[in-house]
Formats: sequence, C-alpha cells, structure tokens
Amino acid sequence: MTPQEMTPQEILRDVFGYQQFRGEQEKIIHHILAGDNALVLMPTGGGKSFCYQIPAMIRQGVAIIISPLIALMQDQVSALQQFGVRVAHLNSTLTSNQARFVSKQLRQGELDLLYVSPERLMTPRFLEFLDSTEIALFAIDEAHCVSQWGHDFRTEYVELSILQHRFPTIPRIALTATADEPTQRDIITHLGLEDAKKFIAGFDRPNIRYRVVQKQKARDQLLNFLEEEGHRGDAGIVYCLSRKKVEETATWLAKKGWSALPYHAGLDKEMRKHHQMRFLREEGIIIVATIAFGMGIDKSNVRFVCHLDLPKSIEAYYQETGRAGRDGLPANAWMTYGLQDVVMLRRILDESEADEQHKRVERHKLESMLGYCEITTCRRQILLSYFGDHLPEPCGNCDTCLEPVTTWEGTEAAQKALSCVYRTGQRFGVAYLIDVLLGKTNERIEKFRHNRVSTYGIGKDLKQGEWHSVYRQLIARGFIKIDVDGYGSLQLTEKSRPLLRGEQTIHLRKDVKSLKVKEKKFGRTSSISLTGNDQKLWEALRAKRFELATTQEVPPYMIFHDSTLTDIVVQCPHTLKEFAQLAGVGATKLKHYGQIFIDVLDEHTLLDEGDKVSANSPTTPSNNESSISESAETTLDAFYQGLSLEEIAAQRNLKPATIYAHLSQAIELGKVKLRQVVQLKEEEIHEIEDKLLERPIEEQHILKPVFDDFEGKYSYEILRCVRANLWQQK
Ligand code: ADP
Ligand code: ZN
Repeated sequence: MTPQEMTPQEILRDVFGYQQFRGEQEKIIHHILAGDNALVLMPTGGGKSFCYQIPAMIRQGVAIIISPLIALMQDQVSALQQFGVRVAHLNSTLTSNQARFVSKQLRQGELDLLYVSPERLMTPRFLEFLDSTEIALFAIDEAHCVSQWGHDFRTEYVELSILQHRFPTIPRIALTATADEPTQRDIITHLGLEDAKKFIAGFDRPNIRYRVVQKQKARDQLLNFLEEEGHRGDAGIVYCLSRKKVEETATWLAKKGWSALPYHAGLDKEMRKHHQMRFLREEGIIIVATIAFGMGIDKSNVRFVCHLDLPKSIEAYYQETGRAGRDGLPANAWMTYGLQDVVMLRRILDESEADEQHKRVERHKLESMLGYCEITTCRRQILLSYFGDHLPEPCGNCDTCLEPVTTWEGTEAAQKALSCVYRTGQRFGVAYLIDVLLGKTNERIEKFRHNRVSTYGIGKDLKQGEWHSVYRQLIARGFIKIDVDGYGSLQLTEKSRPLLRGEQTIHLRKDVKSLKVKEKKFGRTSSISLTGNDQKLWEALRAKRFELATTQEVPPYMIFHDSTLTDIVVQCPHTLKEFAQLAGVGATKLKHYGQIFIDVLDEHTLLDEGDKVSANSPTTPSNNESSISESAETTLDAFYQGLSLEEIAAQRNLKPATIYAHLSQAIELGKVKLRQVVQLKEEEIHEIEDKLLERPIEEQHILKPVFDDFEGKYSYEILRCVRANLWQQK
C-alpha cells in the first residue's frame, strides 16, 4: 500500500511504529488533509513534525517544508529516510549534481516532502518551478522567525507572505514552540493566517524536572549535580551568558573528565559545525553554549539542560529546557541563579539599542523570570500559567514540590532593608547597603557619613548571606528596582510603600545553605537505571546502534531512540513480530534493524548471569587455563547430581539459556561431555562443526552467521555447546 492510500493512523503505526496520536495531532492532520490552514503552537518535543509530515505523505504532490536552519535539514531528512519516507532537501550546501538529482526526483514525482531554506524558496527559479508542480502543502517550521518580537528573527521569513498570494489554494501550516501574544499576531499577519485554525497544545512537559538553586560556586554546584544525578554518559546542554564563560566552563568540565565542547557565535563556523555534529552523533557529549545553540536541535535523548546564568525570559527558559527529554523519558532542567545575574541582564538590556517600548517588554519578561526563580510554590504551575495553561494540582516533579520551601516572616527584615536604601539616598548597590546594615566601618561609609544614618548597624541579627537573600527577593518581587545607569544602585518602587509603612507583611523563602543538602535528596531521575546483566545488554544494544549509525553517518538516536532500546531490554522481543510491537519501530526500521537487534539480544541471553564471559567480550578458544565462574560451578554440581537442565534453571531461578551457558563452559574445559548436555545425532554434530570450521577461528565466536545458515534449525544454545566441544578438542 502506498502512503496515499493509508489513513493517518495507519501511517503512524506502520511507518513510524507508534500506536497513538498525541494531543491534537490527529485533529491537525485531518484539518490539513481537508485543505485548510493552521497555526500550531506546541512545546518543543510535543510532536509538531507529524502534523505536517503525515498529511504530506497522504496528499497528492510534494509538500514544501520551510525550515530556517540549513545545518539541521540534513538531519531531519536522514531521520525520515530511516523510516522509509520519500524525502529530500534543497539548499546551498548541495553540490550542483546533488541539486540536479533532487530536481529530477521532484519532476518524476518521487518525493513526498522537500525541505527548503527560505532563501532557496524565494529564488525566481524555484518559485517558477513550484508553479508547474503539484504541491501538497506548505509547512513553515519555526514560524516565530517572522516576528521581530521573537529572539530568532529572520528577514527572509517575512518574505514568505508571498505564499498566500501566489499559491492561495495550497494549505499552509505554521508551527512554533514560542507562544506569546505579539509573536502569534506577527505570524498570523505575515503568513496570511487570519482564517487559519489555531491549535494550542498543552504546554506541559511532565517528564522534565525543574530545579533552581541559589548560585554559590556555580561550577562546583554543576559538577555536583551531574554526579549526584548519575549523568555520566548522558548527553546534555549547559547554557552560559558569555562566550568567555562558555569556553572556561567547557575546558573545566573536560578537565574533570566530562566530554564537554564549547559552542558560541565567536567560534569559527567549521568548529561550530563539528561540535554540533559530535553532539548529535555521539553519545554522552555535553555542549556548553550561549543561546546561539539549540534552535531546531531535535536530538531526542538530551538528558539534562543546565543554566549557569539566568535566561532573559520565561519563553527562552522554557524553550531551552524543552530541549531535554524529547523522548519522554525523565530529564533534568537545572539552573543556578543569583543577584549578579539580574544586574547583568538589566545592564545588557538598558545598554541595548532597542526602542523604549521594546525595552519595557523585555524588562517585564525579565521580571517574570525572576518571579519564577523566587517562587515558593510549584514551578510547573507558574510556568504553565505563563503560557495560559492551567495545572490544577502541584506537579510533584519540581524542586519546590519535592522539597517544599520553608518560608519565614520577613516583614521586619524587609523594612530594614528598604529603609537602608532610602536613608542612603538610593544611590548604592547591595554590597554597600549590607555593610551599612551590619555596621561595618570602611572608607566609603565614613566618607558618606553613613555610620550616622538610622539604619547603620541595625541588621546584625542576620548574616551577610541572609541579607543578600532578602535583597534578592525584594528585587525579584518588585519592591526594589535596580538602576543600571547608576551602576547598579537600588531604588525603591511604589510597591514598597505599604511594606515600609507596616500595612503589608511579607514572607521570604529560606535559602538552602549547603549545596550538598539540597542536591542529595533527589536521586537519579533517569529511568534507564538498569542493573547488572540488563545494564550489559543495554550497553551491547547501544554499541550495536552506534556501529550502525557510524556506517550510515547518522546520529545513533535516528536508528532507535533510547526508549526503544529500553523496551528491548524490558520486553525481550525474540521474534520480528514481537519486535514490531515496540514503540518507534515501523516497517522500514523493522526490516533494516529488527533481526540485528534480536541477535544482540539472543547472544546476550546466552551469556546471562554475570558470567566471566560478557556480551562485549565473547570467548575465543581459550588457551589459558581458565576456570569457570562460581555460578557455573553451582550449576555443574547440580548437574552432577543428575538434575536436568530445566530443573536446575527452575531451582536456581535462572533462564535455561544461562544454564546452557554454564554447561558450555564446562564442556569447553572437558568437565562434561557434549552428549550429556544436548541430544544430537552424530551427523547433526558434524554438520554444525563443519559450518563452524568454515569460518576463521577468530570469527567463530560470532554465532549469528552459522545460526543464519541453518535458518534457525539449531538454537544458539545448541550451537554454543557444539562449539565448546570443538574448542575443547583443540
Ligand atoms: P517538536 O514538536 O519539537 O518538533 P517532534 O515532532 O520532533 O517535536 O517530536 C518529538 C518526539 O516525539 C519525536 O521523537 C517523535 O518521534 C515523538 N513523537 C511525536 N508524536 C508521537 C506519538 N504520537 N507517539 C509517540 N511518539 C511521538
Ligand atoms: Zn511542582
């Protein structure tokens, strides 16, 4: 059946290997199939791609997908090709031969999807070509790039308004993860989507655990977090504000033994590309980056996103953290934040060239971000409410839910802090104000005679760090503003009056003092916490995936997501039919990889039970006087007592395959005869031995070719025992 004849549900199942649509995917697909326009707002990882990919496969003609990042098009295309989808991309990176080949495919109607850059789309030649081609739909990915409000504005995107005039009958679907009002309005006007139906998905990402810690020694805190959470070997992103800090942090992490690479706009293009490539293709790379990194990164198994500096808005934060855990498995979003971040961001903002109105919006966004950091209730609730989404109950998967914040009655402290700002003339920064409160003497204080003001020395009941916390919270909650022109001096706002006059009380959050205490409580979030033998199998599957990915030059997750590998460990599919049931296994992947992974599983099952022989280092004929494992000894004792193989397995609660593995070791060492273990005719043994001997000795440890040659006539267990016997004779 061609995709055109399939229903969306059938494509989801047979091509992509998933059983159910998520959220509104199915509705959106039917909407586009009916020829209507749509605006889709969904969080990163929400599953936007199927919304246009599936209609693209069903509708007549080729779908044109406009995507801003040429560097990532190749990856998107490769990922789809893995599923057997007829897709190509056209942009300036192709050689003229490659471009000609794509054009030919297009003319012959061999493509369902074509990814293009906006620049390429706008060329007169391409537009003319489109005039004469049957087009299924236009999908405008990362549609917020049309908006000046957004952080990724692209001039070429504005020109996309041509589509509505030139191709009025072709459905257009615009997709983005950025949802604020002004951005939405820009998308609608520029892309002519006034009549389009809006689909706004729930923004929740329940598998992401949000956490914010007070900045102390940020790097040590980061390292501590990575170690406590068992993130070694995981892929992750660490965001910093400045290029310099990116470089330093990457170097530092590398020194501590983590595979960390820097990424920022100041690095030369080749190096950036190389680092991005390594992040996508290898396992366990940490990218340390400025915000320049990440748009369109669709690596599904990013296990953590860390912020060493405060992002400038909740949108940015949500989008950046959203790059974690697209595969739906547990992931961490972790951030350190301190007052210096606020001062720094305010300064950058005030010094920017933007007009006053724009600055006001940005300032407001920064304030919301601060509010988020200081919140004492569920973080997810505030995040979602920011996007107009409602979460009725606290989530149970953020730091404030997991470890409720203690608050204290801070009215008096707040009054002292505020009046100290007032008494010293609203001209000083936090450090100075705290010195005054603590009654310190230094040159500046004496010069300004602030040892005579009424607030001098009235704050000795709190420590310096606690005063810091008080000021931070007062700023975050808008009682004090930072005057950036005045070099970060603090000023009172209107809002502070009732508090000063005692008409209002305030509760402040208690900061956690030691970084250790807070971190330890959480434990590993990853669900891929396998032990012993399963861990070995997982490693073997990962190694196989890596091998397949490397030969095809695609990232490993394009072969299978981590979640599919986990499923293999848990469900042990021994037949193709069982394998097809796993999430993420469609017809094409089943055909290409099913048997390969089943073989890894089968081989591994044979080597069960933490024997000396491990899946990664299969035995070769032993020339050393190796003894057998303790576990195998126990099996052997039982065997000598006359118990059958099945009885031993049952008694020891092991799989029969494990018992076979033990006995084959014993055969190899001459402790048991082959015939005692397996019932085979003489010819059968010879037949197997001949096949084994056809292969060079160093390849004999791989049983798969032999197993295949016999088309499954002999099980791996039997083959293994015969081989052991053969090796024993040597
Ligand atoms: P984004 O909205 O960020 O573009 P994607 O379309 O890349 O998200 O989807 C994120 C991940 O979720 C992908 O790995 C995709 O395969 C998976 N996914 C999407 N829809 C479904 C579904 N209905 N069932 C299972 N997995 C899905
Ligand atoms: Zn919560």
